[in-house]
Amino acid sequence: QAKLRGKNQALVFEPDMDAARQSRRALEIDLSLALTNGEFEVFFQPLVCARAISIVGFEALLRWRHPVRGLVSPAVFIPVAEEIGLIGEIGAWVLGEACAQAARWPRDLSVAVNLSPAQFRSRDLVGTVKDALLRSGLKPTRLELEITESVLLSDSDGSLAALHELRSFGIRIAMDDFGTGYSSLSYLRRFPFDKIKIDQSFVREMSTRPDCIKIVRSIAALGASLGMTTTAEGVETPEQFAQLQAAGCDQVQGYHFGRPEPVGRMIFELSAPTLQGLAAA
Ligand code: C2E
Ligand code: MG
Ligand code: MG
Ligand code: MG
Repeated sequence: QAKLRGKNQALVFEPDMDAARQSRRALEIDLSLALTNGEFEVFFQPLVCARAISIVGFEALLRWRHPVRGLVSPAVFIPVAEEIGLIGEIGAWVLGEACAQAARWPRDLSVAVNLSPAQFRSRDLVGTVKDALLRSGLKPTRLELEITESVLLSDSDGSLAALHELRSFGIRIAMDDFGTGYSSLSYLRRFPFDKIKIDQSFVREMSTRPDCIKIVRSIAALGASLGMTTTAEGVETPEQFAQLQAAGCDQVQGYHFGRPEPVGRMIFELSAPTLQGLAAA
């Protein structure tokens, strides 16, 4: 029997559960043990300045290496961690690990960490972030926190206050997956984001749907006029990069420039094939 810490209800198998519920419960149990078992690992993906074509930072992306399941996608386990009340602990670990790694990098590059809405609901987010900075010695100006609009959707006042406090330390706040929600624009009015990350769905569809590049161009112009940096996600080809650069995006991120890599495989300069690919396009 496995029990979840901090939950009123024991996390156990019950005889009358159907197959789907049983496998979900198994996932929950495994997840509740993953931190203790050292199964999490932070990967890093480069963020590239579109003008200088050089690496300016990295985004921390969590990976779960399960001994039997293999590499489990954060898209699968983050929502489960949120539901069973584990995201606070996991998120704190990611923050600590990302800041500790960034403090060892060869240059003063920025490090971006994703935050879940549930991390804002627990009141100790600001303390957790401060703790990660103090322990690592990382300058707050090197830390960027990525949130989706759902953070501001739920419990706005507390979340807004936390965001303002974090920003007052010099930490930058980015709106992730911009354009995919229902009211992205109204959120720009409610909080002074430092950065907008244009969702990769717009980039992906640029080649087949001409309107997409017009939308991207408009978002880049909007960001510029509000004094925000714009980053395009999911850039896989030199052709996409050329279009995004012309559209006025400040930064790009995507497989063409570098995949998320474990610490041991990180490189801090763009590779020759990456640069040659851009020159040839
Ligand atoms: P995100 O923050 O929008 O991260 C970008 C996702 O796009 C990452 O997926 C990344 O690997 C993927 N990606 C980057 N470049 C390309 C590309 O050129 N093509 C394609 N097809 N994909 C690309 P990943 O690592 O699977 O993460 C998925 C989502 O899980 C993230 O989306 C983020 O919302 C969440 N996540 C990841 N790590 C954490 C974490 O530590 N905490 C929280 N709360 N959420 C996390
Ligand atoms: Mg992100
Ligand atoms: Mg995103
Ligand atoms: Mg996403």
